[in-house]
Amino acid sequence: MEQKTYKGLKFVPYIEADKIHARVAELGVAITQEYTGRNPLLVCVLNGAAPFAVDLFRAIDTDAEIAFIRLKSYEGTGSTGTVKQVLGLSDSIEGRDIIVVEDIIDTGRTMQKLLADLQALKPASLRVATLLFKPEALQCPNVKPDYVGFSIPVKFIIGYGLDIDGMARNLKDIYILNEETN
Ligand code: IMP
Ligand code: MG
Repeated sequence: MEQKTYKGLKFVPYIEADKIHARVAELGVAITQEYTGRNPLLVCVLNGAAPFAVDLFRAIDTDAEIAFIRLKSYEGTGSTGTVKQVLGLSDSIEGRDIIVVEDIIDTGRTMQKLLADLQALKPASLRVATLLFKPEALQCPNVKPDYVGFSIPVKFIIGYGLDIDGMARNLKDIYILNEETN
């Protein structure tokens, strides 16, 4: 694992693929134990959560389904700035046990809006699995992820789905912006 450069910024290795996969396997075991017999629906938020959602889905050893959504950004007029609209949920989620799968929760605004939109569709239960969580950046106290891969400091990271302007999602490992060399 060597240093990577994107957009003139240097990134250094932070979480290796083996460690990611071991943690995803643990989350899969926890979900399996809690959802056996309930057929949960994993709702993957594209694009960033795709690698994590697919690996997590395969780590679940009980009946489960997966669906993919996108969040369309548009400029809000209120103080929250950019808000998002859910696109792509074609089947009803009413009465389903939903696990939203995200790549990262930073301020929590994206998740707060998404949870409100999904709750309005009357699922039986609604939980959140996020690969990464920046607890010190959280500005929405109602957003409490149920399954967290790694809690990290407020730094910019890329890889395993996380991007810098669309790039770096295909890195197998997670890298962090190296503030000393940039
Ligand atoms: P939030 O609404 O502030 O929680 O932002 C969540 C979104 O910001 C994520 O879905 C990512 O698209 C993006 N994001 C936040 N932190 C990072 C990061 O460190 N690297 C790449 N994308 C990030
Ligand atoms: Mg994202």
